[in-house]
Amino acid sequence: MTTIAFIGLGNMGAPMAINLAKAGHDVHAFDLSREAIAKVVAEGGTAAVSAQDAVEGAKVVITMLPASPHVEALFLGKDGAPGLLTHIAPGTLVIDSSTIAAASSQKVAKAADAAGIDFMDAPVSGGTGGAIAGTLTFMVGGTASQLERARPYLEKMGGNIFHAGPVGAGQTAKICNNMLLGILMIGTSEAIALGVANGLDPKVLSEIMRRSSGGNWALEKYNPFPGVHENAPASKGYAGGFGTDLMLKDLGLAQENASHVKASTPLGGLARSIYAQHSLKGNGGLDFSSIIQAFQPRA
Ligand code: NAD
Repeated sequence: MTTIAFIGLGNMGAPMAINLAKAGHDVHAFDLSREAIAKVVAEGGTAAVSAQDAVEGAKVVITMLPASPHVEALFLGKDGAPGLLTHIAPGTLVIDSSTIAAASSQKVAKAADAAGIDFMDAPVSGGTGGAIAGTLTFMVGGTASQLERARPYLEKMGGNIFHAGPVGAGQTAKICNNMLLGILMIGTSEAIALGVANGLDPKVLSEIMRRSSGGNWALEKYNPFPGVHENAPASKGYAGGFGTDLMLKDLGLAQENASHVKASTPLGGLARSIYAQHSLKGNGGLDFSSIIQAFQPRA
């Protein structure tokens, strides 16, 4: 049994922390939301009153926060206040599973290294369903020995563990994947909306495309049309899942990265604009598959 500090218990972090607790680890759970902490405590975690309290005595620290500013502020400090790195014991393994800029991961890793702390990026794919089932895909950025230290814990939360390269490489792999995901969800939504406008049954059409050359992850597991997949966010009023604003963040990271390396990503840029319009209409908190509403007639 290992004492693990888990910070950030949202749609993804809570089920990941619960899987570690169920595997017998002592999980010190912290989030800014008390309800989020209570959810993990109800499944075997131990409540921490602060991030500093959570890392006390922990051999492993895992973070699952929204974006780069949250991760940098937590570890490096903000407005003159010291960051969590000053409270983490040397020799501790820190695994950041948030999706953030590769440059932010590298910045935190450099400061951690100076303090004798092992920091690696390990963003995930697989959605909330994968987080609950413990079948996430981890994309790891770090050294091979850091990955081997992390593997026993990652295996309790995920099925596929890939070593993408040095620190930051996990984040680069993740934004490539999410750029593709953002684009494919828009394409899938357009196709279903077109079929439905022509009188096709969305379930029948989805099944035809799933088994044809248009088959993809959304058609397999995460259909954007309500009622096609019982457990998908679309069938729950687009609640939970992966927020539109988080997808917007990831597409922004992809565009920043593309500018940096002078890559051409026209569909990624267009997808970012389409999700931005959707967010501006007040849909930022809805699951990103609600993008289908942009292609449907108003109710
Ligand atoms: P979320 O908004 O549901 O959860 C984030 C949690 O972090 C919230 O509970 C918030 O209170 C907490 N938090 C923020 N700042 C904090 C701080 N300083 N200390 C402690 N807690 C803090 O987000 P999510 O959907 O769980 O996503 C988390 C990360 O995982 C994001 O980077 C996202 O892009 C990525 N991700 C999400 C999904 C998905 O399907 N939801 C899939 C893969 C990756």
